[in-house]
Amino acid sequence: MLIDSYDRVVDYLRVSVTERCNFRCQYCMPEKPFSWVPKENLLSFEELFEFMKIAIDEGVRKIRITGGEPLLREDLDKFIKMIYDYEPSIDLAMTTNAFLLKGTAQRLKDAGLKRINVSIDTLKPEVAKAIAGKDVLKNVLEGVEEALKVGLKVKANMVPMKGMNADEITDVLEYCKNRNISIRFIEYMENSYASKDISGMKSTELLEILRKNYEFKDDGFDGTSPSHYFTMTDGYRFGVIEPYADDFCKKCNRIRLTAEGQLIPCLYFDEAMSIAEAIKRGDIKGAALVLKEVVRTKPEKNRWGGEDSEVSKRAFYETGG
Ligand code: SAM
Ligand code: SF4
Repeated sequence: MLIDSYDRVVDYLRVSVTERCNFRCQYCMPEKPFSWVPKENLLSFEELFEFMKIAIDEGVRKIRITGGEPLLREDLDKFIKMIYDYEPSIDLAMTTNAFLLKGTAQRLKDAGLKRINVSIDTLKPEVAKAIAGKDVLKNVLEGVEEALKVGLKVKANMVPMKGMNADEITDVLEYCKNRNISIRFIEYMENSYASKDISGMKSTELLEILRKNYEFKDDGFDGTSPSHYFTMTDGYRFGVIEPYADDFCKKCNRIRLTAEGQLIPCLYFDEAMSIAEAIKRGDIKGAALVLKEVVRTKPEKNRWGGEDSEVSKRAFYETGG
């Protein structure tokens, strides 16, 4: 079992299989990065899988594939199947912008994928275009419908931004509620790659809007999820992600692996250690030592919204959020 210096059990690994993306979301990657990681520096699926096996053997029980946009990487279903075949009980999920889901959802499900989280920031085509930098909404919504049809469990993420999509909070929630998709509203997390024009919405403001339309009770935090949950009178449950809230870090159970093999203990900080060399020379013990060291050095708390807060230099498209 992997336990950090604050007695938190780390059993969740998020794997970014590529930093590349077909969207240019204002809050994540409004401009194409100055340079992409050269393809030859990326770990192959076989190499990533070697590390997955170590992590699973050390106690990881939940794996989320993310990016950049994970569906841009060829043969993703084969990678999913490798993990599934090694340990079918792993909670195997993916976060995607859904643009390429139509036509791939069934293959991913057949390979062993259980759940997906999809970014649904708006239901207006022109707003989707303003957020993502291209006309994406039709494909995104068709992708969501297909995922539901093939039986993948679907959750949605929305980042509410003032003057952009904040007026659609109830519309997006209704869209999700009607399809039994649980939605999580993610507070915009400032980072040095995002557009400088974003005005994020605080959870208090968001909840005030929702209270005008719905009755719901506060369920607090649940297990190791970073979500603050609320349940409506009809039983529908939604979440709010508040990165500065104490409980966001208190039960944090996750570490992140980038496509080039950087193992990252916290979404906010720059610190990371590479497993690439150990994996490439087949040094299982060496890679396991790096894993344990990263878990040991996991910081107690991020610095979003704190007194010592500064803009995070970690790119979301690199860590996968
Ligand atoms: N491309 C996929 C997608 O968009 O779902 C997966 C990667 S994306 C980095 C993962 C999640 O991070 C998305 O739900 C996105 O909304 C969220 N995200 C990106 N930048 C963010 C920011 N600055 N603040 C809050 N959430 C952010
Ligand atoms: Fe791409 Fe996801 Fe970042 Fe948007 S949030 S630019 S879809 S990685």
